[in-house]
Amino acid sequence: MEKAGTIGALGATGSLLVQERLSRYLQSQRVHPALLFIGPEKEVKFQVAKGMAKFLFCEQKINSSFCNQCSTCKRIEKEIHPDVYFFKEDSEDTLKIETVREVIGQMRVTPIEGPHKICVIEEAHRMNSAAANAFLKTLEEPGEGRFFILTTTQSGSLLPTILSRCIAFTFRPEKEGLFISPESEKKYRDLFINAITTNNFFQVSTALNEKEEALLFLQFLQSELYQSLLAIESGIPNRSLFQSLSSHDLTLKFDALVTLEGRLRSNANYGLMLESLLRTHFSGVSL
Ligand SMILES: [Zn+2]
Repeated sequence: MEKAGTIGALGATGSLLVQERLSRYLQSQRVHPALLFIGPEKEVKFQVAKGMAKFLFCEQKINSSFCNQCSTCKRIEKEIHPDVYFFKEDSEDTLKIETVREVIGQMRVTPIEGPHKICVIEEAHRMNSAAANAFLKTLEEPGEGRFFILTTTQSGSLLPTILSRCIAFTFRPEKEGLFISPESEKKYRDLFINAITTNNFFQVSTALNEKEEALLFLQFLQSELYQSLLAIESGIPNRSLFQSLSSHDLTLKFDALVTLEGRLRSNANYGLMLESLLRTHFSGVSL
């Protein structure tokens, strides 16, 4: 027998942070009609999107759990539910305006089983600009009970107008258990604050004299951004470095850090890359 599932349990293979964030999100509020899953691991994001569809449709759900056993959950798993559409990456290299019109048309039709309709668009950055513009209006007013879940490995290639209409969740690649000691955390915090206040980012790359340290520093920043996101969403006190940023800004910066982390691992010149990222994304941020 299939085990009951939660969004969190599905997210666990990809990221502890996104797991917590999605679970909290589902328990705390009405689901926004346009969600965006960002991150390098396609399959994880797709499975979580499926989990989200099950969560919305399941006949026997409790809190943020779906049963994975009812006919609805089983048909979503097999991708044969009539009110859940999947536009997977393998179907087309570029999402053209014709495809987007088809999506919009299908989402307008009354649900066959009701009450919702869900459309999962994998790797949404494949939309060319005509397609993205055609999609905008629908994303703005999807209609009652309509939900879009977009996934992407390249959120930087999505139109800002699409990004701003979605609630974004960033999935980090699985870590090999890096641990930041309290001493290191203090060091990174001081280093970052000093760099911001003096607008001198070169000192960060010289102070972190190994690639492994640069990766830890990135994790420290990700964790600070994430604490701020959680605080905004759940109303818990915000003790992170970043208290002045909106959730949209926090998400974009978090995403940039995740992308850089992937590149740093395979690049020798980590200092220069780190410095450039800090200058681009954090210069002038008020702490
Ligand atoms: Zn179910």
